[in-house]
Amino acid sequence: MEGLIVKILSDKCYVKTNKEVVVCNLRGKFRIQKLLPLVGDKVLINEKEKVIEKVLPRRNEIRRPPVSNITQGLIIASVKNPNLDTNLIDKILVELEYNRIKPIICFTKLDLLNKEELNTCMEVINYYQKLYRVYLNTEIDKIKKIFKNEVTVFIGQTGAGKSTLLNKLDANLSLKTGEISMALGRGKHTTRHVEIIEMLDGMLLDTPGFSALEFPNMMQEEIRDAFIEFKDYPCPYRDCMHIKENDCNVKKAVLDGNIPEFRYQNYLDLVKTGNTSEYQRR
Ligand code: ZN
Repeated sequence: MEGLIVKILSDKCYVKTNKEVVVCNLRGKFRIQKLLPLVGDKVLINEKEKVIEKVLPRRNEIRRPPVSNITQGLIIASVKNPNLDTNLIDKILVELEYNRIKPIICFTKLDLLNKEELNTCMEVINYYQKLYRVYLNTEIDKIKKIFKNEVTVFIGQTGAGKSTLLNKLDANLSLKTGEISMALGRGKHTTRHVEIIEMLDGMLLDTPGFSALEFPNMMQEEIRDAFIEFKDYPCPYRDCMHIKENDCNVKKAVLDGNIPEFRYQNYLDLVKTGNTSEYQRR
């Protein structure tokens, strides 16, 4: 029978099937496959023996927290206290793109801006809106609809308003996640614990203690390809990195104002952090 691992605690795996949650033993069988099960894995289980028979192929895998098969990432981006940080937003966007996780952005705390700040901020927000689904945290009814049939992770800095948003989306849920966080605070030997919980017809990855996800290092070319609008400006040189090359249409788009300076600057900053060897086009 097929199921989804919603929680792993010491040597027990909690597998949700379409009927119930089956607590499976982690020992034994899966070692044959040499694959450690992760929260988020789709698995085949033997209900009688309560063991995992097989871990099904993963869509993606995050190193920290250790989870798999996330389908969308809701980036909670504060515009004030902490201030709007497009560098961080772009970094997260690149990582989500690379890992085939659909990015959605929710901007928070716009009410803290004065009129001038708001104008500047809206220019940034409008640009992201051209690329991705974007919401303001006041659009609760719209946000409520994005979770259906998805496995979502919330990503945001401390103070960006994650728990406030969760609370508005589903008061029961915030209670639930609150309980988990409190349970974690008890005793210093408690390991970090990740759980998938049901939310608004979908699943939510609850990751107390993680404000960012950790992905493996990316290649420079992969970072370039994750700036999804660049492909709208094809360059004569096919492997153009849009940095020093001549006749670069991405650089031209920046000069023409079609790609904003901040976005290109973030690209230059991020691409420096990428690896430079063994690149293979995917
Ligand atoms: Zn170029």
